[in-house]
Formats: sequence, structure tokens, C-alpha cells
Amino acid sequence: MDEKEGEECEEGAKKEEEPDWSIWTDPLEELSEIEDAFELDENGKLRGKAILDIGTDCVKPLYMALKYEPEKIVGINEDFSLYPFESTLKQKSKFFMETDIQFHEFSLFDDERLKVLGVDGKENRFHFVLLYKTLHHLRTGECVARERGPKHRCREDEKCCVYEFRGKEIFDRLFELGERVIVCEAFYPQEKDGDKVRGRGGYFTIKEWDRIFRYLLKKHDVKLIRPTKYSPDSKNAKMELRKIKAKLRQVDYICFYVKK
Ligand SMILES: [Zn+2]
Repeated sequence: MDEKEGEECEEGAKKEEEPDWSIWTDPLEELSEIEDAFELDENGKLRGKAILDIGTDCVKPLYMALKYEPEKIVGINEDFSLYPFESTLKQKSKFFMETDIQFHEFSLFDDERLKVLGVDGKENRFHFVLLYKTLHHLRTGECVARERGPKHRCREDEKCCVYEFRGKEIFDRLFELGERVIVCEAFYPQEKDGDKVRGRGGYFTIKEWDRIFRYLLKKHDVKLIRPTKYSPDSKNAKMELRKIKAKLRQVDYICFYVKK
């Protein structure tokens, strides 16, 4: 090898970017936050259960399969470009585990493609529907950014716009898909919301949480997991709502589950 060739080689090596290992390590911490929202059997497993992971990162399903051994985990995401190992995971997990792991690239609002999940809204539903930092992306309504800053003007590219979150519509859809809906949301100011798509995205404000819990406490069985474990009493919704909001003013994260 002459000198020139060697230089080129080195240059090539420098260009190679360090992989982002947090894709593999963050889910470990995230799963520890969610664990108590599942209903594990006496062996600490989820045998025979099916989980739908909406907005999946592809890694949590792998770890969940290894630890809880459910029957099936289906992950959906609108865009897997951040997770190029999606198809490899799907293929190779078959060699090592019983859990059937599937991934589908489509949106929760794509009714036609949702049919492959084989749910009928009644008997055939997932036992668990997981939304980890995904719920705030399910905004569909009109722009509400002016509520937050009166100076906001909607732009064609919807940059800085924030759509309205239609709680009833969204949760009705989620309950069609599964029995227990597990929601985790967290806001870290240093973290950029890389997957904010047009007007969708942005952490929920207290006002939005108020609307969401006002609706959920009315007819549903809600259980808070983080920041504190407790079951709000739906007969006392007004007081519970005040308690929840007071907590949410102190912390920037929440994990809860809801059943109909
Ligand atoms: Zn706007």
C-alpha cells in the first residue's frame, strides 16, 4: 500500500460517525418507568398477552419480549428511518424467542392499514396499548398555538403551530385497539423533539392535561403510576383533577394507565 492510499483510508475512517447508542440504552430506563402499568402474572411475565406499541422505537419490544415473554408485540410507527434495524429485529428475534414481534410502518389514523392488526374493537383487542412519549403526537384538531402565545400567526408550513388534542376521539380509538391503554409523557427542556411533525408534537400544557383527565375521569378507570402511584376516585373527579394538576405542576413527567 502506498502512502496516499493509507491516508485515504484514514480519512474514510474519520468520517464514520459514532452510532447513537442511546437508542439501545434509553429504553432500559424507560421500561423501568412503565413496568408497574402492566399486569404481570405470578412469575412476573405477560404470557399469552398481546401488546401494541404505538410510535415504537423497536427496542422496547425486544426487551419486553425477553423479560416478560408475551405472546405477541406489534409496533407501529409512521416512519422507521430512525430505526433502520427494524426488519432485522423482526426477522432475527424469531430465532431466540417465542414472542412474535411485528413492526408496521403506518399511522394510527390509517384505518385501511390498521386492519392488518386484526382487531374488532371487542373480543379481539390487544391486552395493552402502549404510548411512550407518543400521545402528544396524536393531535389532530385546529391550531391552538395562540392560546400559548397571543403573537402566534399560523404559517403555511405549520412551523410553531400546535394542533388541538381531541381526547375523546383519540382515546375512543385507542380503546378500540386494546383493553388497557398505558401512557407515558415526559418533557426535558434540553431534549429536542426530533419527531415533531408539522403542528403535531410539543409536550402537553396543564390546560391540555386538565381536559384530558377531565374526560378520562368521567367514565374510565384511571391509575397513576408516576410520579406517584394512586387511583383517582372518579366519584370525586373535581378534587382528583385538582390533585393531579398540582402534581403535574411540580414534575415534567407522568405515567398512567386507563381502562374503560
Ligand atoms: Zn398556528
